[in-house]
Amino acid sequence: MQIYSHSRLSCYENCPLHFDYKYVSRVKPPEGKETAEQFTGKRVHEVLEKLYKDLRYSKEWGLDELLRYYKTIWQQGWNEEILIVKEGLEEKHFFATGKKCIEDYYQEYKPFDQTRTIGLESRIVVRLSDESDDYRMQGYIDRLSMDSSTYEIHDYKTGNHLKTQEEADSDRQLALYQIGIEQAWSDVKQVNLIWHYLNFNKEVRSKRTRHQLDSLRKETIALIDDVEDAKDRGRFPSKRGNLCDYCEYRELCPEWKHVLTVQMSLANEYERIPGVALVEEYAKLKAEEKEIADKIDKARAAVVKFAKAEGISVIQGKHNRLLVRTDLRTGFPTRSADLSDYRKLERILKDGGVWVEVSAISNELLASALTEGKISGKLAQKIEEFKKVSETTTVRVGKGV
Ligand code: SF4
Repeated sequence: MQIYSHSRLSCYENCPLHFDYKYVSRVKPPEGKETAEQFTGKRVHEVLEKLYKDLRYSKEWGLDELLRYYKTIWQQGWNEEILIVKEGLEEKHFFATGKKCIEDYYQEYKPFDQTRTIGLESRIVVRLSDESDDYRMQGYIDRLSMDSSTYEIHDYKTGNHLKTQEEADSDRQLALYQIGIEQAWSDVKQVNLIWHYLNFNKEVRSKRTRHQLDSLRKETIALIDDVEDAKDRGRFPSKRGNLCDYCEYRELCPEWKHVLTVQMSLANEYERIPGVALVEEYAKLKAEEKEIADKIDKARAAVVKFAKAEGISVIQGKHNRLLVRTDLRTGFPTRSADLSDYRKLERILKDGGVWVEVSAISNELLASALTEGKISGKLAQKIEEFKKVSETTTVRVGKGV
């Protein structure tokens, strides 16, 4: 089995189709453009790496010369291909953001001797299972430091999302690195997980208990099994979300391909693009369908009212007639409408020994019990043998261009 990384697993969780494009089918992105945010993050990481690397040789950079280094690598790397997604922003805004991150970090941590740096961009391998060597992860730690037998995993972030304490306490990436560090060194007594939110000049820290690390290992193994299963079945559904804005495969993705074609066409041309007329025709008919359904509801209510008032069950028109029948329908509580009464009735039926006669298999409940792991092991395997998968296609009308 291949070695996984946190970013691969996150990619799968965020959008299985993106994972397929990137890691399974290895599709070359149509543009392959780097975003300005990615470019800025890389340059800031490089500057901090340089700072700590040279400290090993007792060279402490002054802030001004460090910023000059930042400017040099920025100018060497920036090019017209770099993608600025957010409207109204230019290169200078991203440059200034990175510069501020470096200045704030420098002022906060100078002379950078809080702990001893033992690794920069260090590769760490994590064995998730004691029984099998199959489940392995790898990652790169921005900076690994130690003080006596306390180790610190530092991760630099230049994005605009500041993790909450709860998010930090449940973060997978650095906690996995902790497992790797404990496997790599025998003197580890404590590990501090530290995120440096450079844009906010703020540290977020977290620690893990042994129980949390054991649970994380199991959860990660289960997730890897899910990914391997998706690979076996070749099933990678798309999952739209905020990350679509930055996805390098939008032009290929079935969620966006046609949308982008229409968006990029000239105003007087888009109507000629195949599919556009179909959408408008379908949306128009669905709107008419709703209008007609509302009219039918109103007419039906008037018919029933008229028949009741006249005490008749047949109303004669010019070419048609309406037959109006009123019947009593028997109903019992359902799970979704009245769970409490449903449970009481269920108990009565079970105690009365007639439950088997009147109950039925719920496809929905059975499927979710399997998915959520409420039914597992051999029993789940036996049930799975009866599963039939069929394709259904829905069409919904949405707004927007
Ligand atoms: S554009 Fe969105 S839905 Fe499509 S592959 Fe990328 S992340 Fe997934």
